[in-house]
Amino acid sequence: MKKGRKWLILLVVLALFASLATACGGDGKEEVKATGVGNGKHGDIKVEVTFKDGDIKNIEVLNHKENEELADPVFSQMKDNIIASNNVDDVDVVSGSSATSKGYKEAVQDAVKKSGVKLNAKTKEAIKTEKEEPKQTYDVVVVGSGGAGFSAAIEAAQAGKKAVILEKMPAVGGNTLISGAEMNAPNNWVQKNLGITGDSADLMYEDTLKGGDNKGQPEMVRILADQALPSAEWLRDEIKVEFLEDELFQFGGHSKKRALIPKGHTGEELIKKFKLKAADLDIPIKTNMKAEKILTDDSGKVTGIEATDINGDTITFNANNGVVLATGGFGSNVEMRKKYNSEMDERYMTTDAAGTTGDGIVMAEAIGGALTNMENIQTYPVCDPETGVISLVADSRFNGAILVNQEGNRFVEELERRDVISKAILAQPGGYTYQLWNGDIEKISNTTKVHKDEYEQLKKEKMLVKADTLEEAAKFFDVDPKALKQTVDKVNQYAKDGKDPDFDHRAGLVDMSKGPYYMMKAVPSVHHTMGGLVINEQAQVMNTDNQPIENLYAAGELTGVIHGTNRLGGNAISDIITFGRIAGQEVSK
Ligand code: ADP
Repeated sequence: MKKGRKWLILLVVLALFASLATACGGDGKEEVKATGVGNGKHGDIKVEVTFKDGDIKNIEVLNHKENEELADPVFSQMKDNIIASNNVDDVDVVSGSSATSKGYKEAVQDAVKKSGVKLNAKTKEAIKTEKEEPKQTYDVVVVGSGGAGFSAAIEAAQAGKKAVILEKMPAVGGNTLISGAEMNAPNNWVQKNLGITGDSADLMYEDTLKGGDNKGQPEMVRILADQALPSAEWLRDEIKVEFLEDELFQFGGHSKKRALIPKGHTGEELIKKFKLKAADLDIPIKTNMKAEKILTDDSGKVTGIEATDINGDTITFNANNGVVLATGGFGSNVEMRKKYNSEMDERYMTTDAAGTTGDGIVMAEAIGGALTNMENIQTYPVCDPETGVISLVADSRFNGAILVNQEGNRFVEELERRDVISKAILAQPGGYTYQLWNGDIEKISNTTKVHKDEYEQLKKEKMLVKADTLEEAAKFFDVDPKALKQTVDKVNQYAKDGKDPDFDHRAGLVDMSKGPYYMMKAVPSVHHTMGGLVINEQAQVMNTDNQPIENLYAAGELTGVIHGTNRLGGNAISDIITFGRIAGQEVSK
């Protein structure tokens, strides 16, 4: 016994010595490292935290699956704040990236707990960014860093102008970043690869006007349709955006398959490449910089922007040539939604980025800008019922997935316009739908693999099930298995006949007799605001007397003249790039 205990003591001493050796830095002070895990938006975030003498010295992210652009300010700004204040619990989340912030915080808290380190209390305030010059002068001041803002700033810089981008959020990208970013372009090169013929700008013009119930301005829709292909080629050749070469989308309301798909099936590809191009052209991007007011001289000519930075200081951006507003829509501003359309109230969540609160519209209106189509607010039919976030896994709808209600019945043509499908869903018991598809459809659409993180998240939330049989899928959601089978039997028959007498599915239904089955619950969510500023063909903002406001331009979702009552899928990117470029070229003249 005695001998055994002696050995034990010796072992403990040796282990202690060894651990001290690894914990000591070269200067002899104790350095401790610990890892921690937190649950982010798309799964685990794992960090390694380094401590020295009770202080947090460094935080390294070991792995994560978050959106890189949205995670960027969390992994830098929040990290700096935690280290500066030596405090994890009270550090603010980064707005617009709250789920990632929460996961990051959890991970660091976990590491602190595991390390056993008692953190020194510090009175030091969380660090703030460097002071901005209170008065700055550029040729072109672009407000908003989505696709429209980047396009405008890049065109301006290429025209030899000194341009700056102001972005109120900590991360760039807006709705463009988090969208699927498919882009309609008639007669595009992928159509040629796939042998799709008969498309034309005329056809896209007609589809777009009709899709918006002829409430878009024909001359503006003409520009959209004519420029969609050159805009796509510009993205491909100038910005180096990679598009899939062998796949296209056909969104509802389009008579041809004409939507190009960016690599990764999201706007991350666009924003990543835009950032690189902006860096190449030395365009400063000022994040956490909120434009508050458009400045004008006595004659009403626009002279710049007054903004507020992260410290709460007022910064004036003078614009020699002019200002381009590209602040996006107002989907995330419930009060503004209700002001223009009382139906779009709190019952609806939104798919939109947190920064899309209509600021540009309000700022331009304050200096006499005219508004149009403001009541037209689009809901996206299939979104996560827990968060309102758009479901990209549900893109299997474009390859034949069907929509059924709680009774297991189809109730709408699955490729109808978004507003029609959304209204039809809200009219079903409970105001939700189930989207159903099988392994054969999945093989083509591949959405559970391409959007794997979303797929896993939906399964975790019990909003999606993969089942070997229809019966199992039906039971998971308490749908009558017999009714669901009857519906699918009918679909199989219609697929065979090449005719859907119930809802006239425009692409033709697909046989779903074989499992496995994917079934997911979904609700409509506010997705796009069609209304906004009136602009002319040069992207100048018009006043209420239908005269251009001198030196003020606008492009993107904050304009209201293109989409009428309803924006067709894939038309937003064509719009923001086309008119963003026009605004950038025109303001530089
Ligand atoms: P679009 O598709 O029209 O380019 P996005 O939604 O992609 O629009 O981008 C708009 C961007 O503008 C968002 O990143 C949003 O945070 C930003 N933004 C909105 N209001 C302001 C403001 N007042 N100051 C600076 N940026 C703003």
